[in-house]
Amino acid sequence: MRIDKFLHAMRIGTRTQVRRLIKDGHITANGEPVISGKQQINPGSDAVFLDDEQVRYQQYFYYVMNKPVGVITATSDATAKTVMDLFNTTDYRDDLFPVGRLDKDTEGVLVITNDGALSHALLAPAHHVTKVYEAEVTGEITAAQVAGFNDGITLKDGTQLQPAQAEIVEFHEIEDFTTIRIMIHEGKYHQVKRMVGTLGERVVQLRRIKFGSLSLPVGLLAGNYRALSETELTALK
Ligand code: URA
Repeated sequence: MRIDKFLHAMRIGTRTQVRRLIKDGHITANGEPVISGKQQINPGSDAVFLDDEQVRYQQYFYYVMNKPVGVITATSDATAKTVMDLFNTTDYRDDLFPVGRLDKDTEGVLVITNDGALSHALLAPAHHVTKVYEAEVTGEITAAQVAGFNDGITLKDGTQLQPAQAEIVEFHEIEDFTTIRIMIHEGKYHQVKRMVGTLGERVVQLRRIKFGSLSLPVGLLAGNYRALSETELTALK
């Protein structure tokens, strides 16, 4: 593999920044200065250093994003802005993809990785990864109504859902909407919106606050992302 490609893939910098680091003599491979980005290295066995710090080979990358409203959960799109457009040029890799899907008008926690096996495991129906959403719903919803979700409801199109747990967070009397928290264990298309639809009401705002063991990190603003910590990753797996 070319060393400039390797350094960029390990998120050392943009292609231009990597070229500059090589030109300015900051990179060595097996103790020898690297003078050309075209130099071939074996990422698994060659010792590449940026000054006195080793650049270790990392195959998989894991991020948590607070997806904002208005962008689509896809890797690319001809017209719409995608979650991948929110990555900066250093972190962006063309093999990254979002795990699962949030609607364009839904915000909240979204895992982005290039680890296909993890994604597959997290999305497999057998795994029942729990997701928790906070929804603002038109009208007054009662605890008795959402208690019905626990029986496993049938959607209007006949889709049978597994039991889900929901609670009332607050009824906003003046504005006439209810904030509810809902925990689901599967991921059907527009599931939360359609569940609320069975109550004759509508979701006006939806935010995912938990995906499996991973909570929306405190202070991670909508549109921002960060690498998962080792602890978060281990818990998620
Ligand atoms: N349920 C929905 O209706 N929309 C989402 O984006 C996620 C869950």
